[in-house]
Amino acid sequence: MDSTDPTRLLAVRDLQVEFRTRDGVVKAVNGVSYHVDAGETLAVLGESGSGKSVTAHAVMGILESPPGRVTGGEVLFRGRDMLTMPAEERRRIRGRKIAMIFQDALSALNPVLSVGYQLGEMFRVHQGLSRRAARAKAVELMDRVGIPAAAARALDYPHQFSGGMRQRIMIAMALSLEPDLIIADEPTTALDVTVQAQVMDLLAELQREYTMGLVLITHDLGVVADVADRIAVMYAGRIVETAPVHELYKRPAHPYTRGLLDSIPRLDRRGRELSAIRGLPPNLLDIPSGCAFHPRCPRAQDVCITDRPPLYAVAERDGTEMPGRAAACHFWKDELHA
Ligand code: SF4
Repeated sequence: MDSTDPTRLLAVRDLQVEFRTRDGVVKAVNGVSYHVDAGETLAVLGESGSGKSVTAHAVMGILESPPGRVTGGEVLFRGRDMLTMPAEERRRIRGRKIAMIFQDALSALNPVLSVGYQLGEMFRVHQGLSRRAARAKAVELMDRVGIPAAAARALDYPHQFSGGMRQRIMIAMALSLEPDLIIADEPTTALDVTVQAQVMDLLAELQREYTMGLVLITHDLGVVADVADRIAVMYAGRIVETAPVHELYKRPAHPYTRGLLDSIPRLDRRGRELSAIRGLPPNLLDIPSGCAFHPRCPRAQDVCITDRPPLYAVAERDGTEMPGRAAACHFWKDELHA
């Protein structure tokens, strides 16, 4: 399917974002391309500073500008470029068709209004419902996202909810307009592990029920295994590997992905020692030459210092294509077939 195809929900193409700072130009996103279709979950994975959230903010049009600036690329929603369409149309799409869930629900909610009121406001403003009807819808949605005694709790204020319950309210807010696409930026990072799993399961269940596209941004490979269809791994503002989720877990083709996988506990690797990726994420004011991962890569050779690897299509030893797989590594074959 071509990315300009109107049946493709979201296609980000060759996106470039930079920040002008006192110390110089930070190249936060350097030619990122990905897509997500209706009913599909794409996880965008990377350490902090990899560009995953900046990409999402550029897609949503909420980049802090200045200092941030989209310097190139396209953000196609149903085949139309949101970066160049009239501002009013862009606002309509971003308000109604795409919703965003943030990490910090407490700061995204208004502390002096009850959650029922805030949820109801979505229906009053966007659907013109009466106060009473909007409140009923708010309670219904709170119930749907698993808030016990929803009718009574609709009167409570954000600080009266636990972190997990607040994140459920954020999910309810995002769902209130029945968007085609949700972008969730580290939606469970602030929660403890058990609650993380519950919130993630809820998100996955609703995504299937509403046949929405979901872009799940996370630094935690552990949370995406059961919910994502595909993963795009980012490093230093670029995508370095894409793959269907289970293939990526079984056989990564990029040493960075391998490093991430070796650093999380896994049931299928019980007894194996965990190892951290050596070194620190790169300074985006001074991205390493060639492959940006070379100072930390156990496989690095001289060519890695001079030549930046493109995203190679990844294949089996006998040349059989592996659909949906690509890796930006000169030595992907050694990694994949190790
Ligand atoms: Fe490592 Fe070289 Fe591959 Fe980069 S291109 S990931 S430095 S082996």
